Amino acid sequence: MSRRLIIAGIVGALLIVALVRALLAPAPRGVQTDTRLLMGTLVTISAWGVEKGRAQPAMNAAFAEMARIEARMSRFVDTSEVAGLNAAERGTWQPLSEELERVVTLGMEIDGLSGGAFDIGLGPLSDLWGFSREPPPETPPEAARIEAWRAGRATLTGPGIEIDAHRLRLANTSVALDLGGIAKGYAVDRAMEILEREGVAHALINAGGDMRIVGDKGGKPWHIGLRDPRQAEGVVAVMDLKGSIAISTSGDYERFFLHDGVRHHHILDPATGQSARSGLISVSIQAPSSFLADSLSTALFVLGETKGLALLEKFPDCAALLIRADGSRIQTPGFIAAPPTTP
Ligand code: ADP
Ligand code: MG
Repeated sequence: MSRRLIIAGIVGALLIVALVRALLAPAPRGVQTDTRLLMGTLVTISAWGVEKGRAQPAMNAAFAEMARIEARMSRFVDTSEVAGLNAAERGTWQPLSEELERVVTLGMEIDGLSGGAFDIGLGPLSDLWGFSREPPPETPPEAARIEAWRAGRATLTGPGIEIDAHRLRLANTSVALDLGGIAKGYAVDRAMEILEREGVAHALINAGGDMRIVGDKGGKPWHIGLRDPRQAEGVVAVMDLKGSIAISTSGDYERFFLHDGVRHHHILDPATGQSARSGLISVSIQAPSSFLADSLSTALFVLGETKGLALLEKFPDCAALLIRADGSRIQTPGFIAAPPTTP
């Protein structure tokens, strides 16, 4: 046999091997996406580079994890651990699961560092405003009711929440747990952990204002637009991100109503009992976890520019993009974002 024939034979054999491999390879590996209504918002998971038979079960497991956390931590689910604690007689010690203890402990840490601006015990005030009700409110609560709540809080020295030996105690009826500013971030972290455990190395989870990414999109970054707080279709910045990072945004435009020309929204300032009016209308945080990004974005929103940036300095691996009421911005050095490109 001539050398040519031998080479042709080898090439032919290699081609057949390549063809068989291609046929046996799992189906398309682009982006696969699924969406569920969870924790009061639409949650979208995108997985990249995993065959379909593997991505869907992984996404299902991640959604199930978020549903499990909601069932434990929502104050609106009567059977939840949080609802149980809120219903307990004040001043009595109640058992606390390890998982809820983690969330409450971080919440109380941010509470302390923010001088009470971030307050996971403001459930009764949230109930007065009722931003989570359907249909949403159109008028503020009576001033006297807010004052009564503030009077109840004024009798306390700290947040009115104590933890000791896996038990929790609420001081008086002006305190009830509201984990709305932190639990979604925690749930996104757990959901991402499930995806990675199920073999998804490239994914994006978007749960309303809380997002987390891992890996990339076929070598390209995940492309995330940051909403213009005053124009629903507008984008104020784009973030091209790779690797493991969380991004959360708190804004006064998500749940709000206008009454007598005043904007009332769902992020409350415990000092006044009113919607936070710190001069900021949007706060985005990039952080190593959604847990931190979520709680810090709410905390900085309430604290405003000066005190907020001082709080952020305690978290060297977190960065912020703040938008003031006049549209001007403050971007801390570590925050990855670029101006939107006009098409
Ligand atoms: P979203 O829930 O829209 O993503 P945030 O993460 O900023 O927005 O959280 C807002 C939620 O946090 C409110 O709906 C309420 O449950 C709770 N909350 C409101 N004000 C505060 C506050 N000062 N401290 C802690 N939690 C708050
Ligand atoms: Mg938040």
